[in-house]
Amino acid sequence: MAGDDAGKINQIRGLEDLKCLAGARQAGISVAFDLSQRQEQTEAGVPADEQGAGVAAQIALARRESPARASRLLGLAEALTGMPHTFAAFRAGLVNEWRATLIVKETICLSVEDRAGVDEELAADTGALHGMGDKAISAAARAAAYRRDPASVTKRASRAVGGRRVSLRPAPDTMTYLTALLPAAQGVAAYAALTRDSDTARSAGDDRSRGQVMADTLVERVTGTPGGVTGVEIQLVMTDRTFLQADAEPARLPGYGTIPATRARHIALTGAGDKDLSLWVRRLYTTPGSGELVAMDSKARLFPSGLKRFLQIRDDTCRTPYCDAPIRHHDHITAWHNGGPTTAGNGQGLCEACNHTKETPGWTTRPVPGPRHTVATSTPAGHTYHSTAPPLPGTAPAGGARSCSSQERRLTLARATP
Ligand SMILES: [Zn+2]
Repeated sequence: MAGDDAGKINQIRGLEDLKCLAGARQAGISVAFDLSQRQEQTEAGVPADEQGAGVAAQIALARRESPARASRLLGLAEALTGMPHTFAAFRAGLVNEWRATLIVKETICLSVEDRAGVDEELAADTGALHGMGDKAISAAARAAAYRRDPASVTKRASRAVGGRRVSLRPAPDTMTYLTALLPAAQGVAAYAALTRDSDTARSAGDDRSRGQVMADTLVERVTGTPGGVTGVEIQLVMTDRTFLQADAEPARLPGYGTIPATRARHIALTGAGDKDLSLWVRRLYTTPGSGELVAMDSKARLFPSGLKRFLQIRDDTCRTPYCDAPIRHHDHITAWHNGGPTTAGNGQGLCEACNHTKETPGWTTRPVPGPRHTVATSTPAGHTYHSTAPPLPGTAPAGGARSCSSQERRLTLARATP
């Protein structure tokens, strides 16, 4: 009935307003939390330039976001306190969290006074941005920022070069996006080189499409070999049934995620006869029932390479909940100087930022006994969060019906040049 449908739309709008109000409230509380944490750190004698550490990490755990995203959200909250019109518009549902972020992003290079001036000029709370999409809002904020202080906007552009980087994220169907953020001239030059070589190959009779030649050439240039598997190890984690008995249980490609069994066998076996490639099969035995990898110990202070590889495979990404960042540190959960042993049970993979957070005063971590490897992290504000290692291929998630038999094995297959 039409009357009901009008009500449904009103509810959707109303809930959207509620989300904005909740987001604005979270922003206000985050700023207050940051202030009181800094005060506490001052009283504890933490040097001024180290204050504020671990604040975003605690907000991340509370919001179930990654530490990187939480620190951007805290930055947004802090900027909004100096932009009362934008903050009011956010509270009233006139701009949502993302659009408020866009306004802050375009004005973050300005002085506090100039930012307040842009805020007044845009007057988001009067409905001035009504009907504007993401691009229009960014453009309006950027134009206002440029009018206030052209020099700092230009300076920001030259600083942006420092943010150049390459990243990897999964795409559907066992594909992946390899993305480079580059200064415009370099990006255009790289693309032009790939286009030129692709055109040359195709005019010489190569029947691959232009996009295919460009993609293949990119991999070839970067890795130094056709096919692109060289020097670097590509690892696959799968059950022996998947590898040897054509079982359908999916495998894990570290650095990417879950891939279908047939695809895993294809990666493992294609080119295995090639004399430049070797295939290693490492067996990882698991304990019956839980799918937990069997532990290895070391007397050394640093994790030996076998144990590091083990932690890498068990944890897959940084162990902080919601973090997802690649592992950069093999960390003693209970520190070595506090008597923590170098064992798989007392080890965890962490990203750089989370490893740093763990070392700030007020944070404690300890391993928790259980069927699968679990770490408990307690924060300065007094909350405790648990992180359980992800299930290995062939293991149902915690609480699932399927369990492993004592015979079940996981294999890692590594392919690389010798
Ligand atoms: Zn992390």
